[in-house]
Amino acid sequence: MAQIAECSECGNARSLFGDCPHCGSPQIPLLAVDVIEFNIKLGNPSVDDALEILAVKIREFLELGVKAVILIHGYGSSGQGGHIKRAIHEALENNRYADRVDEYIYGENVPYGSPAYLELIKKRPGLKRYLRHFKASNAGMTVLLLGSGYRSA
Ligand SMILES: [Zn+2]
Repeated sequence: MAQIAECSECGNARSLFGDCPHCGSPQIPLLAVDVIEFNIKLGNPSVDDALEILAVKIREFLELGVKAVILIHGYGSSGQGGHIKRAIHEALENNRYADRVDEYIYGENVPYGSPAYLELIKKRPGLKRYLRHFKASNAGMTVLLLGSGYRSA
């Protein structure tokens, strides 16, 4: 594990104690491991494969203690990104991952700085660093909040 924690202000890697060496923030840092960004399009999977890969990854992430996933699926009315996005939305709405995903929030619904965004950040502060990258193109991702009730077998 390369980095232990990240600054809650500037997002840079830092140690757990003391002020941030990058921006001087005295704020308590965030553990770096509870949010993961995952790009489902890596390796150009088919739509069916993407849904399978996602199921496997969600299980792995839970076992690692990940609390939230920024799922990058791309968007667009044509092209594989759009197909994968639609399939993932459909799978979520049909509760395909409901035993492991507590909540899912489409990127379109959490514009940076909106009330929905602030609500989400309150639940999972570790998301802050990631969501700031999506000011303009939220439609290409979905936030998954992983199950708190999940027990590793
Ligand atoms: Zn900092």
